[in-house]
Amino acid sequence: MTVYCATSNKGKLREFQLAAPDFDVQQLPRPVPPPEETGSTFEENAALKALYYGSFAAGYHLFADDSGLEVDALGGAPGVNSARYAGPEATDTDNNALLLQRLMGVADRRARFVCVIALVKDGKLVRTFRGSVEGSILNAPRGSGGFGYDPLFYYEAFGCTFGEAPIGDKMLVSHRAQALDAMFTYLRGLLASQVPLPA
Ligand code: IMP
Repeated sequence: MTVYCATSNKGKLREFQLAAPDFDVQQLPRPVPPPEETGSTFEENAALKALYYGSFAAGYHLFADDSGLEVDALGGAPGVNSARYAGPEATDTDNNALLLQRLMGVADRRARFVCVIALVKDGKLVRTFRGSVEGSILNAPRGSGGFGYDPLFYYEAFGCTFGEAPIGDKMLVSHRAQALDAMFTYLRGLLASQVPLPA
């Protein structure tokens, strides 16, 4: 089954494709300018992105994710603003530097990654799926794998950051893996219910 995804982020695309080798996960055939992410929750932003990009994939399921980092000591920031924390053109390095600056001298380093995936078909929101993973923010980046805040996100059970962990390990536990898993389980159920039983 072909499912379209709406991302131009290579790190995310790789994680989407690794999550379900039994599905053909495709990017839209041509680049589409992104919509403005005006929602105040991950659910709202995921749904608005999926409905927007879904209009370029008529007849197919398309999913979009909205994700980010919630830091307890910062009241849940950067949250839905994770990609643009240090400004509209911010790089991962800029965002990580600002996060470290805001957490300077702060003892409570608890944080979580959250991912919400919205699935649409033919202009309708089918469902949303949510995943989250708990960790803590280090005082300096460690590792060059992953993307975004991965080098600052220490995951206790691995004893290292997501930037140091092999991508296959991150995919076993990550917020995105959990949300993707829930969505692909839903789609497998849908497929199974559509296949006529042998006579
Ligand atoms: P989105 O593209 O609006 O969902 O923004 C997601 C932003 O949240 C990314 O640009 C990263 O800064 C951050 N983020 C989300 N998921 C991850 C992850 O798995 N690792 C590191 N950073 C992440």
